[in-house]
Formats: sequence, C-alpha cells, structure tokens
Amino acid sequence: MELDYIEHISPILKDGVKNYLIDIDGTITDDVPNEEPERMVTCEPYPDALETVNRWYDDGHQICFFTSRTENLKQITIDWLDKHGFKYHSVLCGKPRGGNYHWIDNHLVKATRYKGKFTDMIEKQVTIEVFED
Ligand SMILES: [Mg+2]
Repeated sequence: MELDYIEHISPILKDGVKNYLIDIDGTITDDVPNEEPERMVTCEPYPDALETVNRWYDDGHQICFFTSRTENLKQITIDWLDKHGFKYHSVLCGKPRGGNYHWIDNHLVKATRYKGKFTDMIEKQVTIEVFED
C-alpha cells in the first residue's frame, strides 16, 4: 500500500486512492447470519459487486472486506472470496452487528448504503449529521 508519511502524523493514502471498506452479507452476497455458517459456503456473489470491486482493485484502490462475521468464520470467508475471484487486500472480522452505523474518525469518512445495485459511485447531495463547528 502506498502511503504518504509525514513525521508524527498517521500516514495517508496517495491522492485519489480510496480505502474501500465493504460489507459482505447482504452487500456482495445474500444476507447470511453468523448462525448459519453453512450458507456462507454455498451463497453466490452478486455479479455487479464482483465486477465493480475487482475494477476498483485494478484501478489501484485498497479493498478491505469489513464484516460482522466472527474470527472463527474468517477462513470460510477467505475461501469463498477466493473461489469466486474477488480481488482484495484484507478481511476484517468482528464489525459490530445490528447496523445503524455512525463512524467518527479524524480522517475523511464517506458511507454508502447498499440498496441492491453495486455500481461506480455518483455524486449526490444529501443531509448528514456532523459535530458542531
Ligand atoms: Mg451486511
């Protein structure tokens, strides 16, 4: 990963490169709960997700699958991603379950809710919650 490091400050990605954190269940495949791990082997990827994620990877972006699956399900997950040809850099397990995420960070964070179509991003004006200035 190419990072710009300035002394005493956390390194940042090169201009134009994104750190994609991508959910798995319900986003790139069917929504499979941790309680039904056998389905994690047989579920099929959403074709538009596979194509789009792999294009982002080929374009030089960082791809991290960030999932609520637990560590004991990580190898099943990696095997499934590899079997279906996903290109990625990492898999992070242990995302809190239950949705309604609100991420607070000193770095820029954008969030996109998956609603059934996995495409390139478009720009759209929306209202968001932020800290007071
Ligand atoms: Mg999900």
